[in-house]
Amino acid sequence: MPCNWLLVGDTKLCKNPAKGQYCATHAFKIRKGIIIPQPCKGCGRGTKSSLQLCVPCGQGRERAYKYYKQKNNQLNLSFT
Ligand SMILES: [Zn+2]
Ligand SMILES: [Zn+2]
Repeated sequence: MPCNWLLVGDTKLCKNPAKGQYCATHAFKIRKGIIIPQPCKGCGRGTKSSLQLCVPCGQGRERAYKYYKQKNNQLNLSFT
């Protein structure tokens, strides 16, 4: 069974053989508490961004999103 770890910046999974879900290297990393890459919402490449957007897809958008959220919070505050 191949490892389920999605490679960062790639759409491919890790090719190492795994006994469980992940290969020894990645199982070890997970135990260490490293962030498991998730597929980017834009292009499907692995990313560690909390918004699931890789650097090329998310650089501008991620910032815009944060700005939007901040604006929203301000609006909510002015209504209460
Ligand atoms: Zn692996
Ligand atoms: Zn992307």
